[in-house]
Amino acid sequence: MTVDEFVSRSHILHRSFTESPAKVIAGDGINLILEDGSRVIDASCGPSVSCLGHSQPEITKGIVSHLQNDIAYVYSGSPYTNGATEELATMLLANKPGGLSKAIFVNSGSEATDAALKLAVQYWHEKGQPQRTHFIARKQSYHGNTIGALCVSGHESRRAYYKDFMSSNVSFVDPCYAYRMKHDHESDQSFVDRLARQFEDEIIRVGPDRIAGFVAETVSGTTLGCLTAVPGYFKAIRDICDRYEILLILDEIICGMGKTGTMHAWEQEGIRGPDIQTIGKALGAGFVPLSGVLLHEKIFDSLSTGSGGLAHGHTFQAHPLACAAAVAAQKIISQQKLVESAKSMGKKLEALLRKEIEPLPLVGDIRGRGLFWAVEFVLSKEHKTPFPIEANFCSRVVKQSLEMGLNILGNLGHTGEYQVDHIMVCPPYTVTDGELE
Ligand code: PLP
Repeated sequence: MTVDEFVSRSHILHRSFTESPAKVIAGDGINLILEDGSRVIDASCGPSVSCLGHSQPEITKGIVSHLQNDIAYVYSGSPYTNGATEELATMLLANKPGGLSKAIFVNSGSEATDAALKLAVQYWHEKGQPQRTHFIARKQSYHGNTIGALCVSGHESRRAYYKDFMSSNVSFVDPCYAYRMKHDHESDQSFVDRLARQFEDEIIRVGPDRIAGFVAETVSGTTLGCLTAVPGYFKAIRDICDRYEILLILDEIICGMGKTGTMHAWEQEGIRGPDIQTIGKALGAGFVPLSGVLLHEKIFDSLSTGSGGLAHGHTFQAHPLACAAAVAAQKIISQQKLVESAKSMGKKLEALLRKEIEPLPLVGDIRGRGLFWAVEFVLSKEHKTPFPIEANFCSRVVKQSLEMGLNILGNLGHTGEYQVDHIMVCPPYTVTDGELE
Protein backbone atom coordinates (compact mmCIF):
# COMPACT_ATOMS: atom_id res chain seq x y z
CA MET A 1 0.00 0.00 0.00
CA THR A 2 1.39 3.44 -0.86
CA VAL A 3 1.67 6.15 1.78
CA ASP A 4 -1.15 8.10 0.15
CA GLU A 5 -3.40 5.05 0.16
CA PHE A 6 -2.64 4.36 3.82
CA VAL A 7 -3.20 7.97 4.85
CA SER A 8 -6.54 8.17 3.06
CA ARG A 9 -7.76 4.72 4.23
CA SER A 10 -6.84 4.89 7.92
CA HIS A 11 -9.53 6.41 10.14
CA ILE A 12 -6.86 7.50 12.59
CA LEU A 13 -5.54 11.00 12.11
CA HIS A 14 -1.88 10.02 12.44
CA ARG A 15 0.73 12.54 13.55
CA SER A 16 2.52 12.36 10.23
CA PHE A 17 0.63 12.74 6.96
CA THR A 18 3.65 11.65 4.94
CA GLU A 19 4.42 8.21 6.35
CA SER A 20 2.60 4.93 6.56
CA PRO A 21 3.44 3.52 9.99
CA ALA A 22 4.21 -0.19 10.39
CA LYS A 23 1.79 -2.08 12.63
CA VAL A 24 3.18 -3.29 15.96
CA ILE A 25 1.47 -6.49 17.04
CA ALA A 26 3.36 -7.48 20.18
CA GLY A 27 6.27 -6.73 22.43
CA ASP A 28 9.00 -8.89 23.89
CA GLY A 29 11.23 -7.22 26.47
CA ILE A 30 13.06 -4.36 24.75
CA ASN A 31 11.73 -5.44 21.33
CA LEU A 32 8.70 -4.38 19.34
CA ILE A 33 7.37 -7.12 17.06
CA LEU A 34 5.94 -5.92 13.77
CA GLU A 35 3.18 -7.43 11.64
CA ASP A 36 5.71 -8.96 9.23
CA GLY A 37 7.39 -10.76 12.14
CA SER A 38 10.46 -8.50 12.26
CA ARG A 39 11.81 -7.20 15.55
CA VAL A 40 12.89 -3.67 16.36
CA ILE A 41 14.93 -2.68 19.43
CA ASP A 42 12.95 0.03 21.22
CA ALA A 43 16.02 1.91 22.44
CA SER A 44 14.23 4.96 23.85
CA CYS A 45 11.19 3.08 25.19
CA GLY A 46 9.01 5.35 23.03
CA PRO A 47 9.51 8.77 24.60
CA SER A 48 11.15 7.14 27.64
CA VAL A 49 8.00 5.36 28.81
CA SER A 50 8.24 1.53 28.71
CA CYS A 51 10.79 1.30 31.51
CA LEU A 52 10.05 -2.41 32.10
CA GLY A 53 10.05 -3.38 28.46
CA HIS A 54 7.01 -4.51 26.54
CA SER A 55 6.13 -7.80 28.21
CA GLN A 56 5.58 -8.07 31.95
CA PRO A 57 3.24 -10.94 32.93
CA GLU A 58 2.98 -9.63 36.52
CA ILE A 59 1.51 -6.36 35.28
CA THR A 60 -0.90 -8.19 32.97
CA LYS A 61 -1.90 -10.34 35.97
CA GLY A 62 -2.33 -7.23 38.14
CA ILE A 63 -4.60 -5.60 35.55
CA VAL A 64 -6.72 -8.74 35.04
CA SER A 65 -6.95 -9.46 38.74
CA HIS A 66 -8.00 -5.87 39.41
CA LEU A 67 -10.81 -6.11 36.85
CA GLN A 68 -11.95 -9.48 38.23
CA ASN A 69 -11.85 -8.54 41.90
CA ASP A 70 -12.11 -4.80 42.21
CA ILE A 71 -13.78 -1.79 40.62
CA ALA A 72 -12.84 -0.64 37.10
CA TYR A 73 -13.89 2.97 37.57
CA VAL A 74 -14.95 5.23 40.39
CA TYR A 75 -15.44 8.94 39.93
CA SER A 76 -12.97 10.83 42.09
CA GLY A 77 -15.46 13.69 42.42
CA SER A 78 -17.92 11.41 44.25
CA PRO A 79 -17.55 10.59 47.93
CA TYR A 80 -15.61 7.37 47.17
CA THR A 81 -12.04 6.26 47.02
CA ASN A 82 -10.59 2.95 45.86
CA GLY A 83 -7.92 0.55 47.03
CA ALA A 84 -5.56 0.75 44.06
CA THR A 85 -5.29 4.54 44.10
CA GLU A 86 -4.70 4.63 47.86
CA GLU A 87 -2.11 1.83 47.58
CA LEU A 88 -0.19 3.58 44.80
CA ALA A 89 -0.06 6.88 46.69
CA THR A 90 1.12 5.07 49.82
CA MET A 91 3.84 3.26 47.87
CA LEU A 92 5.14 6.57 46.55
CA LEU A 93 4.75 8.73 49.63
CA ALA A 94 4.81 6.58 52.78
CA ASN A 95 8.40 7.74 53.47
CA LYS A 96 7.57 11.36 52.61
CA PRO A 97 10.46 11.87 50.17
CA GLY A 98 11.59 15.48 50.56
CA GLY A 99 8.41 16.20 52.57
CA LEU A 100 6.14 15.23 49.65
CA SER A 101 3.03 13.84 51.25
CA LYS A 102 0.03 13.90 48.91
CA ALA A 103 -0.59 12.74 45.35
CA ILE A 104 -3.05 13.40 42.56
CA PHE A 105 -3.21 10.95 39.66
CA VAL A 106 -4.19 12.06 36.17
CA ASN A 107 -3.78 10.56 32.71
CA SER A 108 -1.10 12.43 30.81
CA GLY A 109 1.96 14.42 31.73
CA SER A 110 0.40 17.51 30.19
CA GLU A 111 -2.57 17.17 32.54
CA ALA A 112 -0.13 16.77 35.44
CA THR A 113 1.57 20.05 34.47
CA ASP A 114 -1.80 21.81 34.22
CA ALA A 115 -2.80 20.41 37.61
CA ALA A 116 0.52 21.49 39.16
CA LEU A 117 0.10 25.07 37.89
CA LYS A 118 -3.50 25.21 39.11
CA LEU A 119 -2.55 23.81 42.51
CA ALA A 120 0.15 26.45 42.86
CA VAL A 121 -2.37 29.19 42.05
CA GLN A 122 -4.93 27.74 44.49
CA TYR A 123 -2.22 27.51 47.16
CA TRP A 124 -1.54 31.24 46.88
CA HIS A 125 -5.26 32.02 46.94
CA GLU A 126 -5.66 30.07 50.18
CA LYS A 127 -2.62 31.91 51.58
CA GLY A 128 -4.34 35.24 50.90
CA GLN A 129 -2.07 36.17 47.97
CA PRO A 130 -4.32 35.70 44.92
CA GLN A 131 -2.15 38.08 42.87
CA ARG A 132 0.56 35.40 42.67
CA THR A 133 -0.29 34.02 39.25
CA HIS A 134 2.96 34.53 37.32
CA PHE A 135 5.22 31.58 36.51
CA ILE A 136 8.85 31.69 35.52
CA ALA A 137 9.95 28.79 33.32
CA ARG A 138 12.97 28.06 31.13
CA LYS A 139 13.64 28.53 27.44
CA GLN A 140 13.81 25.38 25.31
CA SER A 141 11.84 23.39 27.86
CA TYR A 142 8.89 21.06 27.48
CA HIS A 143 6.16 20.48 30.02
CA GLY A 144 3.33 19.25 27.82
CA ASN A 145 1.07 19.99 24.93
CA THR A 146 -2.21 21.17 26.45
CA ILE A 147 -2.67 24.93 26.36
CA GLY A 148 -1.83 25.32 30.07
CA ALA A 149 1.30 23.19 29.84
CA LEU A 150 2.41 24.88 26.62
CA CYS A 151 2.19 28.25 28.33
CA VAL A 152 5.16 27.26 30.53
CA SER A 153 6.95 25.30 27.79
CA GLY A 154 9.71 27.17 26.03
CA HIS A 155 9.39 25.08 22.88
CA GLU A 156 8.95 27.42 19.96
CA SER A 157 7.58 25.19 17.24
CA ARG A 158 5.06 23.55 19.58
CA ARG A 159 3.80 26.99 20.66
CA ALA A 160 3.84 28.57 17.20
CA TYR A 161 0.22 28.04 16.11
CA TYR A 162 -1.16 28.95 19.52
CA LYS A 163 0.66 32.19 20.29
CA ASP A 164 -2.65 33.98 20.91
CA PHE A 165 -3.51 31.51 23.68
CA MET A 166 -0.19 31.83 25.51
CA SER A 167 -0.43 33.56 28.88
CA SER A 168 1.42 36.81 29.39
CA ASN A 169 1.82 35.71 33.01
CA VAL A 170 4.73 33.45 32.09
CA SER A 171 8.30 34.53 31.45
CA PHE A 172 11.39 32.54 30.57
CA VAL A 173 14.99 32.40 31.72
CA ASP A 174 17.92 30.46 30.26
CA PRO A 175 18.26 26.73 30.81
CA CYS A 176 21.44 25.29 32.34
CA TYR A 177 22.85 24.17 28.98
CA ALA A 178 26.56 24.07 29.70
CA TYR A 179 27.62 22.54 26.36
CA ARG A 180 26.70 25.72 24.51
CA MET A 181 26.10 28.40 27.13
CA LYS A 182 29.00 28.04 29.55
CA HIS A 183 31.79 30.34 28.38
CA ASP A 184 35.27 29.01 27.70
CA HIS A 185 37.26 29.14 30.95
CA GLU A 186 34.10 29.81 32.99
CA SER A 187 33.87 27.57 36.06
CA ASP A 188 30.71 25.64 36.90
CA GLN A 189 30.26 27.95 39.88
CA SER A 190 30.51 31.12 37.79
CA PHE A 191 28.05 29.66 35.27
CA VAL A 192 25.62 28.83 38.09
CA ASP A 193 26.08 32.32 39.55
CA ARG A 194 25.30 33.87 36.15
CA LEU A 195 22.09 31.82 35.73
CA ALA A 196 21.09 32.48 39.34
CA ARG A 197 21.56 36.22 38.83
CA GLN A 198 19.42 36.11 35.70
CA PHE A 199 16.69 34.24 37.61
CA GLU A 200 16.80 36.72 40.48
CA ASP A 201 16.75 39.69 38.07
CA GLU A 202 13.64 38.25 36.45
CA ILE A 203 11.96 37.81 39.84
CA ILE A 204 12.68 41.43 40.67
CA ARG A 205 11.50 42.63 37.25
CA VAL A 206 8.16 40.81 37.60
CA GLY A 207 7.81 41.52 41.32
CA PRO A 208 8.31 38.66 43.81
CA ASP A 209 4.82 39.02 45.25
CA ARG A 210 3.29 38.32 41.81
CA ILE A 211 5.13 35.04 41.27
CA ALA A 212 3.49 31.70 41.99
CA GLY A 213 6.28 29.35 40.99
CA PHE A 214 9.35 28.41 38.99
CA VAL A 215 8.94 25.44 36.66
CA ALA A 216 11.86 23.28 35.46
CA GLU A 217 12.65 19.74 34.36
CA THR A 218 15.19 18.32 36.80
CA VAL A 219 16.93 16.64 33.88
CA SER A 220 15.77 18.18 30.60
CA GLY A 221 14.29 15.59 28.28
CA THR A 222 13.13 15.92 24.71
CA THR A 223 14.14 19.51 23.97
CA LEU A 224 17.73 19.62 25.20
CA GLY A 225 18.39 15.88 25.30
CA CYS A 226 18.91 14.34 28.76
CA LEU A 227 20.59 17.50 29.97
CA THR A 228 21.73 17.37 33.59
CA ALA A 229 22.32 20.67 35.34
CA VAL A 230 25.85 21.57 36.39
CA PRO A 231 26.52 20.85 40.08
CA GLY A 232 25.10 23.53 42.36
CA TYR A 233 22.53 24.86 39.87
CA PHE A 234 19.42 23.48 41.56
CA LYS A 235 20.78 24.36 44.99
CA ALA A 236 21.08 27.98 43.84
CA ILE A 237 17.57 27.87 42.36
CA ARG A 238 16.11 26.28 45.52
CA ASP A 239 17.76 28.97 47.68
CA ILE A 240 16.38 31.80 45.53
CA CYS A 241 12.89 30.24 45.52
CA ASP A 242 13.04 30.03 49.32
CA ARG A 243 14.28 33.59 49.67
CA TYR A 244 11.39 35.00 47.62
CA GLU A 245 8.85 32.37 48.75
CA ILE A 246 8.38 31.10 45.22
CA LEU A 247 7.20 27.51 44.76
CA LEU A 248 9.72 25.22 43.09
CA ILE A 249 7.84 22.98 40.65
CA LEU A 250 10.01 20.18 39.27
CA ASP A 251 8.85 18.28 36.22
CA GLU A 252 10.05 14.69 36.45
CA ILE A 253 7.55 13.33 33.95
CA ILE A 254 10.29 12.08 31.67
CA CYS A 255 13.33 11.85 33.95
CA GLY A 256 11.77 10.55 37.15
CA MET A 257 10.61 7.28 38.71
CA GLY A 258 14.05 5.68 38.79
CA LYS A 259 15.43 6.44 35.34
CA THR A 260 18.42 8.45 36.56
CA GLY A 261 19.41 5.89 39.20
CA THR A 262 17.42 7.36 42.08
CA MET A 263 13.64 7.28 42.38
CA HIS A 264 13.51 11.07 41.97
CA ALA A 265 16.12 12.86 39.89
CA TRP A 266 16.24 15.79 42.36
CA GLU A 267 17.71 13.45 45.01
CA GLN A 268 21.03 13.87 43.20
CA GLU A 269 20.92 17.67 43.26
CA GLY A 270 21.66 18.23 46.95
CA ILE A 271 18.33 19.95 47.59
CA ARG A 272 15.59 19.14 50.08
CA GLY A 273 13.18 18.56 47.18
CA PRO A 274 10.54 20.51 45.27
CA ASP A 275 7.30 21.98 46.59
CA ILE A 276 5.36 20.39 43.75
CA GLN A 277 6.58 17.58 41.51
CA THR A 278 5.08 16.03 38.42
CA ILE A 279 5.61 12.39 37.44
CA GLY A 280 4.41 10.29 34.50
CA LYS A 281 5.67 7.98 31.76
CA ALA A 282 7.58 5.34 33.85
CA LEU A 283 4.92 5.53 36.60
CA GLY A 284 2.70 3.05 34.78
CA ALA A 285 5.62 1.77 32.66
CA GLY A 286 3.53 2.35 29.53
CA PHE A 287 1.00 -0.38 30.34
CA VAL A 288 -1.57 2.28 31.18
CA PRO A 289 -1.75 6.04 30.71
CA LEU A 290 -0.95 7.49 34.11
CA SER A 291 0.78 10.59 35.45
CA GLY A 292 0.66 12.40 38.74
CA VAL A 293 1.40 15.41 40.90
CA LEU A 294 3.14 15.09 44.26
CA LEU A 295 2.69 17.87 46.79
CA HIS A 296 4.83 18.93 49.71
CA GLU A 297 3.04 18.79 53.05
CA LYS A 298 3.21 22.59 53.32
CA ILE A 299 1.09 22.88 50.17
CA PHE A 300 -1.49 20.52 51.59
CA ASP A 301 -1.49 22.35 54.94
CA SER A 302 -2.46 25.59 53.22
CA LEU A 303 -4.93 23.98 50.83
CA SER A 304 -6.63 22.21 53.70
CA THR A 305 -7.15 25.41 55.69
CA GLY A 306 -8.83 27.05 52.71
CA SER A 307 -11.97 26.31 50.76
CA GLY A 308 -12.12 22.66 51.85
CA GLY A 309 -11.26 20.98 48.56
CA LEU A 310 -9.46 21.02 45.26
CA ALA A 311 -10.52 23.53 42.66
CA HIS A 312 -9.08 21.13 40.07
CA GLY A 313 -10.37 17.74 38.95
CA HIS A 314 -11.57 15.70 36.03
CA THR A 315 -13.39 12.55 35.03
CA PHE A 316 -10.56 10.06 34.83
CA GLN A 317 -8.56 11.40 37.77
CA ALA A 318 -7.31 8.62 40.09
CA HIS A 319 -8.45 5.89 37.70
CA PRO A 320 -8.46 2.61 39.69
CA LEU A 321 -7.38 0.34 36.83
CA ALA A 322 -4.51 2.61 35.83
CA CYS A 323 -3.39 2.83 39.46
CA ALA A 324 -3.59 -0.98 39.84
CA ALA A 325 -1.30 -1.41 36.83
CA ALA A 326 1.11 1.17 38.25
CA VAL A 327 1.11 -0.63 41.63
CA ALA A 328 2.13 -3.83 39.81
CA ALA A 329 4.83 -1.94 37.86
CA GLN A 330 6.22 -0.23 40.96
CA LYS A 331 6.27 -3.54 42.86
CA ILE A 332 8.45 -5.05 40.12
CA ILE A 333 10.78 -2.03 40.27
CA SER A 334 11.08 -2.27 44.03
CA GLN A 335 11.29 -6.08 44.37
CA GLN A 336 13.84 -6.48 41.59
CA LYS A 337 15.80 -3.41 42.77
CA LEU A 338 15.55 -1.91 39.30
CA VAL A 339 16.36 1.66 40.32
CA GLU A 340 19.74 0.32 41.43
CA SER A 341 19.98 -1.53 38.10
CA ALA A 342 19.27 1.71 36.24
CA LYS A 343 22.28 3.15 38.04
CA SER A 344 24.67 0.25 37.40
CA MET A 345 23.54 -0.51 33.84
CA GLY A 346 23.64 3.25 33.22
CA LYS A 347 27.38 3.22 33.96
CA LYS A 348 27.82 0.51 31.32
CA LEU A 349 25.69 2.46 28.85
CA GLU A 350 27.75 5.59 29.45
CA ALA A 351 31.00 3.66 28.96
CA LEU A 352 29.74 2.22 25.67
CA LEU A 353 28.54 5.59 24.41
CA ARG A 354 31.84 7.24 25.34
CA LYS A 355 33.89 4.49 23.70
CA GLU A 356 31.87 3.81 20.56
CA ILE A 357 29.89 6.97 19.80
CA GLU A 358 31.66 9.98 21.31
CA PRO A 359 34.75 9.75 19.04
CA LEU A 360 32.60 9.88 15.88
CA PRO A 361 33.15 13.07 13.89
CA LEU A 362 29.58 14.39 14.02
CA VAL A 363 29.04 13.77 17.74
CA GLY A 364 29.31 16.95 19.80
CA ASP A 365 28.19 15.88 23.23
CA ILE A 366 27.08 12.82 25.16
CA ARG A 367 25.15 13.48 28.33
CA GLY A 368 22.75 11.94 30.76
CA ARG A 369 22.45 9.99 33.98
CA GLY A 370 21.39 6.45 34.88
CA LEU A 371 19.58 4.94 31.90
CA PHE A 372 18.67 8.34 30.47
CA TRP A 373 21.21 9.44 27.85
CA ALA A 374 21.38 11.55 24.72
CA VAL A 375 23.79 12.08 21.88
CA GLU A 376 23.96 15.59 20.40
CA PHE A 377 25.13 15.84 16.79
CA VAL A 378 27.00 18.78 15.29
CA LEU A 379 28.38 19.71 11.93
CA SER A 380 31.71 20.71 13.45
CA LYS A 381 32.92 19.12 16.65
CA GLU A 382 35.54 21.79 17.15
CA HIS A 383 33.21 24.77 16.76
CA LYS A 384 30.05 23.06 18.05
CA THR A 385 28.32 24.21 14.87
CA PRO A 386 24.81 22.81 14.68
CA PHE A 387 23.36 21.44 11.48
CA PRO A 388 21.10 23.82 9.59
CA ILE A 389 17.47 23.09 10.45
CA GLU A 390 16.73 22.30 6.77
CA ALA A 391 19.29 19.45 6.93
CA ASN A 392 16.79 17.56 9.08
CA PHE A 393 19.80 15.70 10.40
CA CYS A 394 18.15 14.06 13.34
CA SER A 395 15.20 12.73 11.35
CA ARG A 396 17.70 11.15 8.99
CA VAL A 397 19.55 9.47 11.86
CA VAL A 398 16.25 8.21 13.25
CA LYS A 399 15.18 6.91 9.83
CA GLN A 400 18.46 5.14 9.15
CA SER A 401 18.45 3.62 12.64
CA LEU A 402 14.99 2.21 11.96
CA GLU A 403 16.26 0.60 8.79
CA MET A 404 18.90 -1.07 11.00
CA GLY A 405 16.26 -2.32 13.44
CA LEU A 406 16.68 0.35 16.10
CA ASN A 407 13.77 2.56 17.12
CA ILE A 408 15.18 5.70 18.70
CA LEU A 409 13.69 9.06 19.65
CA GLY A 410 15.13 12.18 18.05
CA ASN A 411 14.44 15.80 18.90
CA LEU A 412 11.05 16.97 17.70
CA GLY A 413 10.81 20.32 15.96
CA HIS A 414 12.60 23.60 16.44
CA THR A 415 12.78 24.34 20.15
CA GLY A 416 14.42 27.75 20.29
CA GLU A 417 17.65 29.70 20.05
CA TYR A 418 19.94 26.68 19.95
CA GLN A 419 19.42 24.00 17.32
CA VAL A 420 19.86 20.77 19.28
CA ASP A 421 19.99 17.66 17.09
CA HIS A 422 19.92 14.80 19.54
CA ILE A 423 18.76 11.24 19.92
CA MET A 424 17.76 9.75 23.25
CA VAL A 425 19.01 6.39 24.45
CA CYS A 426 16.93 5.32 27.42
CA PRO A 427 16.45 1.56 27.44
CA PRO A 428 14.32 -0.29 30.01
CA TYR A 429 15.67 -0.87 33.54
CA THR A 430 15.65 -4.58 32.67
CA VAL A 431 18.11 -4.10 29.77
CA THR A 432 20.88 -6.71 29.44
CA ASP A 433 24.57 -6.20 28.61
CA GLY A 434 23.99 -7.72 25.17
CA GLU A 435 21.09 -5.40 24.43
CA LEU A 436 23.13 -2.37 25.48
CA GLU A 437 25.89 -3.36 23.08
N1 PLP B 1 6.86 17.07 30.76
C1 PLP B 1 7.93 16.50 30.20
C2 PLP B 1 9.29 16.77 30.77
C3 PLP B 1 7.80 15.66 29.09
O1 PLP B 1 8.88 15.11 28.52
C4 PLP B 1 6.49 15.41 28.59
C5 PLP B 1 6.32 14.54 27.42
O2 PLP B 1 7.23 14.19 26.72
C6 PLP B 1 5.41 16.03 29.20
C7 PLP B 1 5.62 16.85 30.29
C8 PLP B 1 4.01 15.82 28.68
O3 PLP B 1 3.61 14.51 28.92
P1 PLP B 1 2.44 13.86 28.04
O4 PLP B 1 2.98 13.71 26.66
O5 PLP B 1 2.17 12.55 28.74
O6 PLP B 1 1.28 14.76 28.09
